[in-house]
Amino acid sequence: MGKNVFVLTYHSIHVDGTGYATNDHIGFAKDIEYLHQAGFHFIGLERVIDAVISGCWDDIPDRSVALTMDDGSWFDWYDLPHPSFGKQRSMVNILRDFQAKHGRMAQPELQVTSFVIGSPKAREELDKTCMIGKGWWKDDWWAAAHAEGLAKIANHSWDHRHASLPSDFHYPGCSDYGHFNNLSNQEEADWQIYQAQEYLRQVLGTNPLPAFAYPYGEVPEWVATEYFPAHGESMGILAAFTTKPEPVCSDSDRWRLPRYVFRNDWSSLAELEQLLG
Ligand SMILES: [Zn+2]
Repeated sequence: MGKNVFVLTYHSIHVDGTGYATNDHIGFAKDIEYLHQAGFHFIGLERVIDAVISGCWDDIPDRSVALTMDDGSWFDWYDLPHPSFGKQRSMVNILRDFQAKHGRMAQPELQVTSFVIGSPKAREELDKTCMIGKGWWKDDWWAAAHAEGLAKIANHSWDHRHASLPSDFHYPGCSDYGHFNNLSNQEEADWQIYQAQEYLRQVLGTNPLPAFAYPYGEVPEWVATEYFPAHGESMGILAAFTTKPEPVCSDSDRWRLPRYVFRNDWSSLAELEQLLG
C-alpha cells in the first residue's frame, strides 16, 4: 500500500477580496480548520522530503498534509492593513489562532514552509509592481520565524525571474524574463539558486529548510536532471517543488515534487475535499 502526502500552496500577497475564493488568508484559515476536522495530520515539509529520499514512509501518518506559501512578503508574518480589503491576519498568526483555539497538541507538527525570494533589490521592486508599494516585502522577519519554527524559510530563487523587473536587474544577457524554465546555464542557475541559498543562510544565521520551489512551478529540465543531482546537497537543497497537482508519493522525483496551488487547483472547500479524495 503506497502512502502519499498532499502539499498545499498559498500566496499571502493574493488579497483580492474578503471571501474564500478571493483571499488566500481566508482560504488558508478555513482550509486548516476543515483539514483538522476531516482528520488530516499536518506535518512539516522536511518530513515529506525525508520520506521521499529515504523511501521510509512508516512514520508518515495516513492522511497527511504539508503547508507551503510562496514569495515571502510581510503578509506571511505581520497583520497588515490592506488599503482595499481591510486588516489581513498574517498566515503565521492564522496558525497561532488555530493553536489558541484547539491547543498546541491538537496538531503538534503544525507548520508552514515559506518559500522566499532572496534579492532585497528585487523584492523592493516587486513590492511596487506586484503589491501596493508600501515596503512590505522585507526580510526582517525571516530569522525570528525560522527559529520559532511555525514558519520555516526556504529558497524560491534570487529574483523569481519576474517580468516586471527592469532589465538592468536581470541576470546578464537574459531574454524572456517572466519564465523560469529557460534558465540558460549553470552560471545562471548558481545566480538564481545558489546565490539565494547563501543569502538566506546569512540572514537566518543557520541553514534554511532544505528545499527549493521553482518560480511559476516551471522546471528547467536540466536543472532537475543534472544541476540539482550534482550540486543540490552541497548547497543544502535536498528536494525541489513544482506546481504539478498531485500528491507526493514513494516514487516521486525528489527534484520535481508536486504541490497543489490554492485558487488554481481548488477554490472551495468542496473542491478541496474532492481533491484530497
Ligand atoms: Zn512564486
